[in-house]
Amino acid sequence: MKKIAVLTSGGDSPGMNAAIRSVVRKSIFEGYEVYGVYQGFQGLINDNIEKLELGDVGDIIQRGGTKLFSARCPEFIDAGVRQKGLDNLQKYGIDSLVVIGGDGSYRGAQRLNEEGIKTIGVPGTIDNDINGTDFTIGFDTALNTVVDAVDRIRDTATSHERTFIIEVMGRDAGDLALWAGLAGGAETILIPEAAADIKAVAERIETGMNRGKKHSIIIVAEGVMSAQECGVELRKYINVDTRESVLGHMQRGGKPTGNDRVLASRLGALAVDLLKDGISGCAVGIENNKLVETKFDKIFEERHQIDRALYKLSQELSI
Ligand code: ADP
Repeated sequence: MKKIAVLTSGGDSPGMNAAIRSVVRKSIFEGYEVYGVYQGFQGLINDNIEKLELGDVGDIIQRGGTKLFSARCPEFIDAGVRQKGLDNLQKYGIDSLVVIGGDGSYRGAQRLNEEGIKTIGVPGTIDNDINGTDFTIGFDTALNTVVDAVDRIRDTATSHERTFIIEVMGRDAGDLALWAGLAGGAETILIPEAAADIKAVAERIETGMNRGKKHSIIIVAEGVMSAQECGVELRKYINVDTRESVLGHMQRGGKPTGNDRVLASRLGALAVDLLKDGISGCAVGIENNKLVETKFDKIFEERHQIDRALYKLSQELSI
């Protein structure tokens, strides 16, 4: 009988639980045995592995975080350390592994695949920074969390006629800042993929003030600079009273949106389907609303890109 293991790795994201549930239930539906690895690659090398049944993934589809816990395991880069994980899987007779995580986790998954475990990656990160998929599991939830925060800050920005600088997550990617900025009607969006011209930002704020604009919202992606630094930079050019908000880890938590739950359910099941067909060494994703799989090598070929048309639109609408 085929035995599949599943783990979550790297930064957690809302919808990881829905993906775990999908992998577990689809595996059992196909007549396979399924095992949960706790604490990501760390749990793999520590033999923190447990057989999962249908009921073990009950009542988690609506929960943020990950039932299997996550961990960073820098030593997993070492082949000798990975061998411990491979030995543990072999002990249970497990020959296939589903890794839910970001691109760092994909690198570990790729190594394991080369070393003999049939491995599939499932994109779980709020950053939306992985090639081979238009959307990652957790991005939609984080987007809605940020938009809600921006709406609230806008209320007080209007009351006090102030410029607010809101720092959002995304690591080196600007997707979350871009989408949240567009959805929240921000006057300025600063993302790593477009050079930040603070002087131009200052001039626009000034022009806005001169025509009677009461407030301004700047969204800055953490990959560009901190909100604090942005305020300092801005005041080099204009005399403006700013308030900085760092949204922080609230962006990673919360119950997943319907979209994230559906995406997680589709991608988790697809991972099992691919393993069933003898396909591995790739990650699943969604492109133009079609489920796809992409080889890890191809995913790592180039850096993830933002949707340029969306960035252009955000600029056109925030004049
Ligand atoms: P994410 O998956 O969210 O991008 P990280 O970049 O922290 O998060 O990666 C998660 C884990 O993946 C790391 O802690 C490490 O165990 C593993 N990993 C990352 N890069 C590699 C690599 N080059 N080789 C093997 N394992 C890796």
